[in-house]
Amino acid sequence: MSSTLRFQVVGEAFKKHPVEVPTPAERPSEFFGKYVFSRKKMAAYLTPEVYAKMVDVMDGDATLDLTTADAVAAGMKQWAMELGATHTTHWFQPLTEGTAEKHDGFVVHDGQGGMIEEFTGKQLVQQEPDASSFPSGGIRSTFEARGYSAWDPASPVFVMGDTLMIPTVFIAYTGEALDYKAPLKKALRAVDHAATAVAQLFYPDVRKVISNLGWEQEYFLVDEGLYAARPDLLMTGRTLMGHDSAKNQQMDDHYFGNIPERVAAFMRDLEIQALELGIPCKTRHNEAAPNQFELAPIFEETNLAVDHNMLLMMLMKRVARKHGFRCLLHEKPFAGINGSGKHNNWSLATDTGVLLHAPGKEPLENLRFITFIVETLLAVWRHNGLLKASIVSASNAHRLGLGEAPPAIISSFLGKQLSDVLDYVEHSDDNAFTELSELTKSSKHGLRLDIPQVPELLIDNTYRNRTSPFAFTGNRFEFRAVGAEANCASAMIALNAAVAETLLDFRKRVDALTVNGMDTMKAVLHTVREDIVACRPIHFDGNGYSDEWKAEAARRGLDTEASVPLIIDRYLDPDSVEMFNRTHVFTLAELQARNEIKWETYTKKIQIEARIFGDLCMNHIIPVATRYQSQLIDSVHKMKAIFPAETAAKLSINNVSLIQQISEHTSFITENVARLIDARRVANRIESVRQRAIAYHDTVAPLIEDIRRHVDKLELIVDDELWPLPKYREMLFIR
Ligand code: ADP
Ligand code: MG
Repeated sequence: MSSTLRFQVVGEAFKKHPVEVPTPAERPSEFFGKYVFSRKKMAAYLTPEVYAKMVDVMDGDATLDLTTADAVAAGMKQWAMELGATHTTHWFQPLTEGTAEKHDGFVVHDGQGGMIEEFTGKQLVQQEPDASSFPSGGIRSTFEARGYSAWDPASPVFVMGDTLMIPTVFIAYTGEALDYKAPLKKALRAVDHAATAVAQLFYPDVRKVISNLGWEQEYFLVDEGLYAARPDLLMTGRTLMGHDSAKNQQMDDHYFGNIPERVAAFMRDLEIQALELGIPCKTRHNEAAPNQFELAPIFEETNLAVDHNMLLMMLMKRVARKHGFRCLLHEKPFAGINGSGKHNNWSLATDTGVLLHAPGKEPLENLRFITFIVETLLAVWRHNGLLKASIVSASNAHRLGLGEAPPAIISSFLGKQLSDVLDYVEHSDDNAFTELSELTKSSKHGLRLDIPQVPELLIDNTYRNRTSPFAFTGNRFEFRAVGAEANCASAMIALNAAVAETLLDFRKRVDALTVNGMDTMKAVLHTVREDIVACRPIHFDGNGYSDEWKAEAARRGLDTEASVPLIIDRYLDPDSVEMFNRTHVFTLAELQARNEIKWETYTKKIQIEARIFGDLCMNHIIPVATRYQSQLIDSVHKMKAIFPAETAAKLSINNVSLIQQISEHTSFITENVARLIDARRVANRIESVRQRAIAYHDTVAPLIEDIRRHVDKLELIVDDELWPLPKYREMLFIR
C-alpha cells in the first residue's frame, strides 16, 4: 500500500460512527434462548412420550432409538421452520481451529415433480461429512475418507440465520475421535463416576457430579480498514512487526475505563445475539491493553459451556464485521502490550449441592471440601506437564512466561486461609475430624469501611494472585493459562480426566482401609493427609513471574520446559497414557494421532509467519528504507553544492548517521531473511513431524524475532509519510 493510501485508511477509521443497534422490544429474560430448542420448547413441540424419552437421554446415559429420533426431528423441523430456517447442519469441533459445518436444505423431491420439506431422525442423529479435509493424524487414510458426525443431545440445537445447527461429535470410521467434543464427553463421564463415588462417602444420596466451566473471553478489536492494510495481521492473526506506540498501557487508563461508543454498540449487538442463542452473558469490560476487551457468561455445565464459547467466538467475528471491526482472538496480536487469554473457572457440583464451595459449619462439609481440593491439587501435581501441554500452541507461547500471563510452569495458588487449613490437617491425627469446623468456619470476614453510606463489605479472603496459572478463588479453581483462541475443551479434557484418576484412586484407598474396619471419616482423613503431603510441590503462593520461582520449580520437579513441540510430548508420557486409558478418554493410537496433528499445526503456523514476514521485509520495508536513504544521500550531496565542504559536513552529521543506521539495519534484514528462507528449507526436508516442529521452533521462530527488532528500529527512523504499514498507535486507539 502506498503511504497516501495508509493515511486515507487511517482517516477513514477515525471518521467511522457506531452502527445503529436496534433495542429489542423485550427484556433479556424474555429473549434469552429465543433461537434455542430448549426443554420448554421440546415440551411444546414433542408429544409427552417423546419428550419424556428425550429427558431420559439428556439426563442419563440412555441412547436414542430411531423412532424417537424421527419424532424429535419432526418437532425440531416445525419449530425451526417457524423461525425461518431452510437448512440444517451438523456442527462439530474438528482439530483445526473453530467449528465446521456442512449445510443441507430441508427440501427433498416429493416424487410428483414438486418439493417438500423433510428432516428425518436419521439426518438428525448421524451424518457422514467428507472427512478427508480434516486432520486425522493418519488414523483415517485418505481413501477411507468417511467420518461420522453424531448428535450430542446434551447440547441443545439452535437456529442461526437460516440454519438449524445440531451440535455433534466427529469420529473416524474406525471409532477414534477426530474432534474435541467426543473426548470431552468421555472425560466428563469419568469425573462424574469417580467423583460420585467419593461424594457418596459423605452424602450417600449423591447420584451425579457435574463439572462446571465459566470462561472469560478476552479479545481485541481493530478497525477493518487498518486490518486490511496489514498483510501480517490478515494472514497470521498477529502483527509480525510494529514498534511500540509511545503511549500504550502504561497509564492503565483502559482497564474499566469508559467503553468507546463504537465499541459499546458492537458489544450491545453481540450480547443481544448471544443471549438469543442461549449464551448467558454476564459481564463485559475493557481489558488492560488498549482496544482489548473481555466478555464472560455465567458458568454452565462444561460440555455446554464449551459449545457456547465456540459459538460466541464465531459470533464475535461475525458481529465485528457488521460494525466495521475485525475481532482478534490471537493470544498476542501486538508485541509490547498484554495478550489475550481465556480464564477457565472450573468446579464440581453434585446433583444435590456444590463440592468445592468454601466450607460451612459442619465438619463433614469441611472434610468433603478439603478432600476435593486436595485431590484436585494432586491431579494437577501429577499431571502438571500434561496440563501445560493442553494449553500450549504456537500463538499462546507468545503470552506465557512474559510477565503478563501465567508462566510456562503450572502451579497452584491457594491463599493464606486454605493453606493454613491444609497445614493444620496435615499435622493433625486421624481423630481431628471434629475440630475442623472451627478452623474453616469463616471464609469471608467483614471489613468495616469508614465511608459514609457504603455498607460493610464481605472480603473474600482468597486474595487474588494474578500470576498463578491455577488459582483457587473461593468456590472454584481458575485455570488461567488457557489461550484466547483455544477450544476450552483441550484444557477441560486433561483437567477432568486427571481429577477423575486421583478420585478413583482415592476411593480405592479409602475402601482398602474401611474394609479392615476403620471408620469411614477416619479413613478419609488419613488418605487426605497423605495426599496433602504428596501434592505439596504444586502449591505456590508467591510471585510466579520471578526468576527465583523458575529455579525453585525445577527443584520441586515441576515441568519447566518452554519449547512448544517438546511440551506436546507430555501427552505420550507413560503416566498420561495410563491415565487416559484408565479413564477411557483416549487410546494410545488416538494420543499419537493427535500429537502428530499438534506438531503439524505448530509447524504450519510458524511456516506461514516466516513466509509472510520475509515477503513484507523484502517488498515493503527494504524498498521504503532504501528510498528514504537515497533522499538523505541526495540531501548530503546538495549540501556540498551550497556550502563550503567543512560547513556542509557539519550540517550533514545527522543525515550521514541516519544513512549509516539504515544501511546497518537493511543489510541485517536482507542477510537474515536469506537465512530464514534457508532455515525453512532445511526444516522442511525433515521427515518426522515432531523433529520438523522442533526445527521450526529452534531455528525459524527465533530468526523472525531477531529480524523484527531491526524492522522496528527502521520504523522509528524512516519518514512517516513513506512508511507503508499502519502503525501501532493508529491501530490501537479506537475513537
Ligand atoms: P474475575 O474476577 O475472575 O474476572 P468474573 O466474575 O468476571 O471473575 O468471572 C468469573 C467467571 O467464573 C464467570 O464466568 C463465573 O460465572 C464463573 N464462576 C463463578 N463461580 C463458579 C463456579 N463455582 N464454578 C465455575 N465457574 C464459576
Ligand atoms: Mg478471572
